[in-house]
Amino acid sequence: MPGYDIYVPTDLHDALSYLGDYGETTSVIARGTDLLPRLRRRQASAVNLLDISGLDKELRYLRKEDGSYHIGALTTVTDLLESPLLGMEFELIREAARKFGDPQIRNVATVGGNICSASSSEDLIPVFLALDARVKLSSVKGERNLPLKDFIMGKRTVFRKSGEVLSEIELGSLPPDSASAYEKMGRRNILIIALVNEAMVLTTEGDRETVREAHVALNRLAGRVPQRAKATEEFLSGKKLNAETVASAQEILSSELMLKTDFRASGEYRTEIAKVYLKRLLELCAFRIKGT
Ligand SMILES: Cc1cc2nc3c(=O)[nH]c(=O)nc-3n(C[C@H](O)[C@H](O)[C@H](O)COP(=O)(O)OP(=O)(O)OC[C@H]3O[C@@H](n4cnc5c(N)ncnc54)[C@H](O)[C@@H]3O)c2cc1C
Repeated sequence: MPGYDIYVPTDLHDALSYLGDYGETTSVIARGTDLLPRLRRRQASAVNLLDISGLDKELRYLRKEDGSYHIGALTTVTDLLESPLLGMEFELIREAARKFGDPQIRNVATVGGNICSASSSEDLIPVFLALDARVKLSSVKGERNLPLKDFIMGKRTVFRKSGEVLSEIELGSLPPDSASAYEKMGRRNILIIALVNEAMVLTTEGDRETVREAHVALNRLAGRVPQRAKATEEFLSGKKLNAETVASAQEILSSELMLKTDFRASGEYRTEIAKVYLKRLLELCAFRIKGT
């Protein structure tokens, strides 16, 4: 690419050493599906690019160890979709992956790139927020681990230090009587830029009707950052799932959304969709829990 110095590391250690020296002026590039268009449009700037796309051997994997799932940063959306490792309780990951871009984009778009993009329409951020995911950051100084909710700081802003690469996403196993689901609305059926996306992980008591915990994450909440709908979650906890509970939860969600109107849709329209999705996701998760 003209105008940039691109460094192609031989392995992860080499990449981290380079970032240790030049991190302040370097942008990491994975498959470039987000960064390259933004550089071309001058919405992002960089002096040097560190191209980590060749580090598949070290950063592209999905494995289960000690009861947790570990997803390497270069794992693609197609890898998620096709992984036999993620059981039925992780259906929301497959649902988000199926609604992601188109087949060409899914084949290259990486999980790490999606999270680090930290925009308000990324699909995987609400999914991983609902799953209480943690992220691992690697640098020459070592590794640190933090909850994804603390990593996403604002629109296009993540808590990544200049010498660090996002290397892994970690998910815990879900408790018994849990299920998950994902919904996304856009203005077309493929290559959808989300107007609303909403992810849910629901866990019930043994009766499979009383909510023990509900995790609800949306791409915009009280601003433009993907977050968990905490007031809605708190309301649902301990409630029997019936029409009255769902209707009250919808009202609480609508009051904590505070969605703004933009050129794609009005805040009112997005709020109505988010409420409809809340009902749909609760019903779908309850159905899935009963079917397990
Ligand atoms: C046609 C099209 C359709 C799309 N459809 C969707 C969609 O449906 N849903 C959706 O969510 N997104 C969509 N996207 C956006 C994009 O494809 C995704 O966000 C993708 O996951 C980004 O991955 P990448 O490897 O290409 O990231 P890159 O573009 O390489 O990087 C994105 C950002 O993350 C940083 N970064 C990347 N990897 C790391 C790392 N390991 N450590 C530290 N920083 C890192 C980069 O510096 C950059 O800021 C679409 C893009 C296009 C062009």
